[in-house]
Amino acid sequence: MNTNDFRIESRNLIGGQWVGAADSGAFPVTDPATDRLVAHVPLCGAAETRQAIEAAQAAWPDWRSRTAAERGDLLRALADLMMRDRPRLAHLMTLEQGKPISESRGEIAYAASFLSWAAEEGKRLYGETIPAGHRDKRILILRQSIGVVAAITPWNFPSAMITRKLGPALACGNTFIVKPAEQTPLSAIALGELALEAGLPPGVINIITGDPRAIGAEIFRHDAVRKVSFTGSTEVGKVLMRQAADHVVRLSLELGGHAPFIVFEDADIDAAVAGAMASKFRNTGQTCVCANRFFVHESVYEKFAAGLARAMASLRVGAGFDENAQIGPLIDDDAVAKVQSHVRDALDRGAKVRTGGNLVSVGAGFANRFFSPTLIDGLNADMRIGREETFGPVAPLRAFTSDDEAIALANDSPYGLAAYFYTRDASRLMRVAEALEYGIVGANDGLPSTAQAPFGGVKQSGFGREGGRHVMHEYTSVKYVSWGLGPA
Ligand code: NAP
Repeated sequence: MNTNDFRIESRNLIGGQWVGAADSGAFPVTDPATDRLVAHVPLCGAAETRQAIEAAQAAWPDWRSRTAAERGDLLRALADLMMRDRPRLAHLMTLEQGKPISESRGEIAYAASFLSWAAEEGKRLYGETIPAGHRDKRILILRQSIGVVAAITPWNFPSAMITRKLGPALACGNTFIVKPAEQTPLSAIALGELALEAGLPPGVINIITGDPRAIGAEIFRHDAVRKVSFTGSTEVGKVLMRQAADHVVRLSLELGGHAPFIVFEDADIDAAVAGAMASKFRNTGQTCVCANRFFVHESVYEKFAAGLARAMASLRVGAGFDENAQIGPLIDDDAVAKVQSHVRDALDRGAKVRTGGNLVSVGAGFANRFFSPTLIDGLNADMRIGREETFGPVAPLRAFTSDDEAIALANDSPYGLAAYFYTRDASRLMRVAEALEYGIVGANDGLPSTAQAPFGGVKQSGFGREGGRHVMHEYTSVKYVSWGLGPA
């Protein structure tokens, strides 16, 4: 089918072939900014999932026997094609996900960076030798591919959440199937088209869209699947963890967050405001690492709050294809209802809206999903916004008086993905970084995510790391070879 000026594939990729669903039909993909129909994609279930897994299984022996450099060349070729097609891919992403087009362009480059990083890192999958306990033995450690890796990904980063798994999984010699989120399957399918163009062999990457429960159940039921890497909500992560138990399937879980953002009294307030803007409003507040609770020292509270309110007032709310838009639509009506209920609940419990707090109209023909950047004073832990991910452009603030209080407030959460703080004191910086119970700490940095560093959480934000050299452990198994030399 065509979107404005280019044709998009909307079938599934199984064993190098484009296929529809056998019998269960298709489901619509719509533009969250307008509710306009963009495409239909296959509503697949267990049977197609089984075919995809078996295609990946069949492709594994050849793929794992290739050298790291050969695999790396293909991953790099895919990254290069993504950058060649960046305008088209960004357009598709904004169409199905709604994010501002400049952010979609940024995500394509970010997504490609995981492929090129893994292409190089695959060459450094070193084994080990260990001094043995006997004269006539040697101990070797091999790091080997696992087999078929299945990925289940969310809608908020339709491309990067796939390549963050695909790059290292393939670089380590595994083959791959992915089930993208129902709202954003087209970015995944476009990646499949480019994978074929790059020369990835049939079956090395398979893409399947459809019924999440049926697909998930088959993934966990099939013996060939040796690893599942999931990015999404903590709620679904727990369901998958239970399913993984039956077949003892290895898991990586990149789950929800509830990031604290602390501003100490010695912080560079302008830098803290800039960091808060970057962390809070990227993707319209719909990221797992978005700051969701702001704790500000009482002596700088008003200065920071006023600065943040000023910066927020300059944000342009608009449809993603508006080149100047910085805040796009929320993904769907449920997301709008959640943001509204968080704000309402906070007000009922004594908070005050300083700026924003409501839906705004961006013109005729657009859906009612554009929420104004909102600053709330008077956050406390009884409020839903003080306990749960909001996933929208709402910044709630609370004053504190001591470092210990700020750290206790920040750690008072079942989540542990990202945390941020601003200070100019080097000793405080190290002490606080160590005390925060989070997998990622932005110390004077509102945007820590990068392909070079291990990304992931603790507590109910999950386990496993994506990015950096650490990700390679997620997609390899360690084999110990005890080598008896026999008589000399
Ligand atoms: P979600 O509802 O958990 O869905 C994530 C994926 O799981 C989708 O592909 C979904 O399919 C699938 N799914 C749902 N139920 C399933 C089941 N029973 N079996 C198998 N698959 C199932 O999350 P989301 O709303 O898409 O994404 C937002 C969440 O992701 C937030 O909590 C955010 O914090 C988290 N996130 C975490 C990270 C991280 O790195 N830690 C990064 C990005 C996002 P359908 O779409 O078809 O329902």
